[in-house]
Amino acid sequence: MIDSMIQNLSSSSTINLEDKFGAHNYHPIPAVIERGEGVFLWDMEGKRYFDFLSAYSAVNQGHCHPKIIAALVEQARKLTLTSRAFYNDCLGEYAEFVTKYFGYQRVLPMNTGAEGVETAMKLCRKWGYLKKGIPENEAKIIVCKGNFHGRTITIVSGSDDPESKGGFGPYTPGIIQIPYNNLVALENAVKDKNVAGFLVEPIQGEAGVIIPNEGYLSACFEICKKNNVLFIADEVQTGIGRTGKKLACDHENVHPDILILGKALSGGTYPVSAVLSNDEIMLCIKPGQHGSTYGGNPVACKVSIAALKVVEEENLSENASHLGKIFIRELNGIQKEFHGLVSQVRGKGLFCAMVIKNVKGKNAWDVCLALMENGLLAKPTHNDIIRFAPPLVINQEQLLECISIIRKTLREFI
Ligand code: PLP
Repeated sequence: MIDSMIQNLSSSSTINLEDKFGAHNYHPIPAVIERGEGVFLWDMEGKRYFDFLSAYSAVNQGHCHPKIIAALVEQARKLTLTSRAFYNDCLGEYAEFVTKYFGYQRVLPMNTGAEGVETAMKLCRKWGYLKKGIPENEAKIIVCKGNFHGRTITIVSGSDDPESKGGFGPYTPGIIQIPYNNLVALENAVKDKNVAGFLVEPIQGEAGVIIPNEGYLSACFEICKKNNVLFIADEVQTGIGRTGKKLACDHENVHPDILILGKALSGGTYPVSAVLSNDEIMLCIKPGQHGSTYGGNPVACKVSIAALKVVEEENLSENASHLGKIFIRELNGIQKEFHGLVSQVRGKGLFCAMVIKNVKGKNAWDVCLALMENGLLAKPTHNDIIRFAPPLVINQEQLLECISIIRKTLREFI
């Protein structure tokens, strides 16, 4: 009966099913994707698209990368989950691999980005009490306005986005908000002796690829060091090659005290996140104080090793850096050509954005729908910004084709 109900689905009937039986917590672009390979996605009717979102930078290695899928399938056939009640034969190998890869002493494996952020916040508070000597229940963490760190109660407690925060109170106390890209505000905020950490995105992704001034991150790091405050980088979206370096913090030679990774840590095949730090911080958490049934499971470990190897073997950071320069140059040209429609472009590596003016009642959503018609998938963030973040395996020829699609699409609006 169920089988006969789900036979012969088309894109529109699939959308209807989701609409009828699913929670309405997303507003997707109406493309129903059935298959992916590299930079390409195909919908249920066989139409091909360039993916310019990469599942919010989770698919940096390209869709269904054969080496990552091989690791997933091989491990899935052997052992998938033991929980951390027992050891598994993959976590030790992964812990050594991932810590050496990013230059840390220890890793705490989790599954989603939000869990990674929660973990980092707990770790930071614990360090604040055990090492900094903050009185019990008084620890504070500084976050930035415009941030996006996920959607748990504690994380939205530090958000100023009415959509993700509104109506979910009461909120977790102990979070101080300061403006992003503002060193004076940070200097003032860390004067409070109960501040344990500063949590920051090196580039604010969901806010619309907001890039702080050059030197901001390194200056923040110095301020944190001077005041015995942990510098916590949320590189869930910016990390793993996206901005043209392994980490966005690498652009300013900043080595965060706590590093949060997710998304591309598995190349989009499996929910894998990680928190990395040194012994002094990580060993503040003792058995039973934090964990997750799936965190550090054998499949996640093998997939993540394969995903990180692909980034190195295929020089994906270098490709993002090289093609990112071409992309931003072309986007600048597009902005000049379509200045009535495009108010700003910005980007670092292959993490770019275009700000769309509201013309004749049309906004970024309408432009994304037209891009979809023309074979390129992107999603607006807020009402006026389109983020462009293709898989980092894209080549120059493909990028130039996409730039032509963007030009052709914008022409339809003038
Ligand atoms: N942190 C940042 C910077 C993000 O961009 C996101 C998701 O977009 C998250 C955390 C949350 O990740 P997840 O959706 O995997 O929980």
